Amino acid sequence: MNTIPHWIDGSPATAAGPHTAPVFNPATGQERARVALGSAADVDAAVTAATHAFDAWSESSLSQRTQVMFAFRQLLLEHEEELGRIISAEHGKTIDDARGEIMRGREVVEYACGLGDVLKGSFSDQVSRGVDVHDFRQPLGVVAGITPFNFPAMVPLWMHPIAIATGNTFVLKPSERDPSAANFVAELYRRAGLPDGVFNVVHGGKEAVDAILAHPGIEAVSFVGSTPIAKYVHEQATARGKRVQALGGAKNHAVVLPDADLEFAANHITAGAYGSAGERCMALSVAVAVGDAADALADALERKAREVKVGPGDAPGTEMGPLVTKAARERVENAVASAAVQGAKVVVDGHELKIDGHPECADGFFTGPSLLDHVTTGMDAYTEEIFGPVLAIVRVDTLDEAIDLVNANPYGNGTALFTASGEAARRFQRKVRVGMIGINVPVPVPMSYYSFGGWKDSLIGDSPVHGSEGIRFYTRPKVVTSRWPQPAQQLTAGFGFPTSS
Ligand code: NAD
Repeated sequence: MNTIPHWIDGSPATAAGPHTAPVFNPATGQERARVALGSAADVDAAVTAATHAFDAWSESSLSQRTQVMFAFRQLLLEHEEELGRIISAEHGKTIDDARGEIMRGREVVEYACGLGDVLKGSFSDQVSRGVDVHDFRQPLGVVAGITPFNFPAMVPLWMHPIAIATGNTFVLKPSERDPSAANFVAELYRRAGLPDGVFNVVHGGKEAVDAILAHPGIEAVSFVGSTPIAKYVHEQATARGKRVQALGGAKNHAVVLPDADLEFAANHITAGAYGSAGERCMALSVAVAVGDAADALADALERKAREVKVGPGDAPGTEMGPLVTKAARERVENAVASAAVQGAKVVVDGHELKIDGHPECADGFFTGPSLLDHVTTGMDAYTEEIFGPVLAIVRVDTLDEAIDLVNANPYGNGTALFTASGEAARRFQRKVRVGMIGINVPVPVPMSYYSFGGWKDSLIGDSPVHGSEGIRFYTRPKVVTSRWPQPAQQLTAGFGFPTSS
């Protein structure tokens, strides 16, 4: 069985230790490869390579770095189909969906291509007589990214193009469940002309993560994953003086007002809830039906949930693939069963799904879309992040009640409002305590030149990813106060605190 190696100093690297983990094809349930589980020695080897590479890379010109980013962007475009198939085979999502994540990740590379503009500092002329002040930003050094399984290309692409374009060197620890995309991207960087050691990959789980958090050679850690691990990473890394950005889990509400086009809303909520089998941090997991909207919305959502085409991610026409692991499928099906016990109405039960026409999928990790109605805030189906194709309908009377509901939830990643009222939309976007808001847009993932990040338990600490926040995160400022005195002026130097004159 093929073992997926680390990528250190510009080439595949055999692991220091013997441990590996299985990588499955979720559509068939078969093991397709093993992945190396990195140890502290592997992390140290990657950090050593990245430290050596930093000296030259941080001195490279903006134009050299821009050229690498342009070339890398072109390669991502040319290899979108191939990378999409790699992602689909290990994650289970459809190839179209995988191509979508590559495209959204490529947009971050495009943002990084403009680094000459975004890295410009400021200049103040004559702040005192003969004195000027300017500032500029410099890279941190070796930085690390720890990423989740659900976007094996896009989430790392939120991080490394900006880190690398600003002159840092990078160690990526991707999810051990779908590790191959990271090595493919490493190879594209190599072909784009990135010097060896600037981008490295160490595979693994907790042991590799703990080694990253403890390594004194790593200046900053970017994390995206579940909230408990985000809190752990934030706590451990900040305690060691590292800069940290840590994005956590989500429970995203779609609020539907009675004046909305209910067919439009139901279509988009269905896609937002069941696309990628609900394994998106911006997936819609709660539909909040306001007032008279409830019955008609519930009927439309039921109809559409039953129409979702479930099958292997590489089969034409598939809209939703399997879950990533058998354990994930069991967790989702248990959540639906427990919702029924706690009093929710199970309108559609994904457990009943049969995959027709694909005998190879008999052991795949499939479950169908589930729709729950009359869910209340005390039920586990509401309080837990199920992270699967389960949509819960909660009924409320007014928009204000809906806003209170969204705000009382511990998560604050994304939310959407469906309405025809500009006044309601404005009130909603100003009052909700959520980082990313869609108005008649179900999955409002911001463009790369804005930042991506939630509020509350969806983002630990204070740093979102990409856009100008990404530039800020991976660099630190220097402010220079300068004077070029004439010989006669050099004689006067006061001992008082410097003031302008
Ligand atoms: P996860 O938290 O299990 O894993 C994330 C990373 O942490 C992986 O690299 C994993 O190897 C590592 N890890 C797992 N357990 C660890 C432990 N005990 N100690 C140290 N490291 C550990 O998340 P996942 O299941 O891969 O991804 C799904 C989660 O990610 C969901 O909660 C989802 O909402 C969240 N997510 C959030 C965003 C966002 O932008 N906020 C984006 C994508 C995914």
